[in-house]
Amino acid sequence: MSVNLRRAAAMMGRALLLRCPSCGSGGLWDSYFRIRTRCPGCGLRLERGEPGYIVGAATFNIIVAELSFMAVFLGVLFATWPSPPWKLLQWGGLALMAVMPVLFYPFSKTGFSPSTSCSAHAATTATSPRIDARARRGLASGIRD
Ligand SMILES: [Zn+2]
Repeated sequence: MSVNLRRAAAMMGRALLLRCPSCGSGGLWDSYFRIRTRCPGCGLRLERGEPGYIVGAATFNIIVAELSFMAVFLGVLFATWPSPPWKLLQWGGLALMAVMPVLFYPFSKTGFSPSTSCSAHAATTATSPRIDARARRGLASGIRD
């Protein structure tokens, strides 16, 4: 596995554990629906408020919700064939599609961060010189374990 793939996998793993994709610090969330503006460990901007970031995180969330629906639907369909519970699939699928985006919301916010935190944008948009230097060091040295 190349270094970049390993780095991307590590960043995604950390993000899916709701930790900072860059440094692995926790405590990124003020509440279930409110992510902090910056990582308390390295200063990486987490909430950018940019339309592309918001749309990307929402798209990531919807894709996961639809894939989970498809997996459950096909799993139940194949497990119960030739007489699948159509009513359960209909209403269960509806409930799943309503609940999954809410359950996956924090993961979509941190999960979309690795793709955006790889860019120099994260370092160049830091406002504090101390945080700015830490963010640049984190981006320059890659992921620290
Ligand atoms: Zn961090």
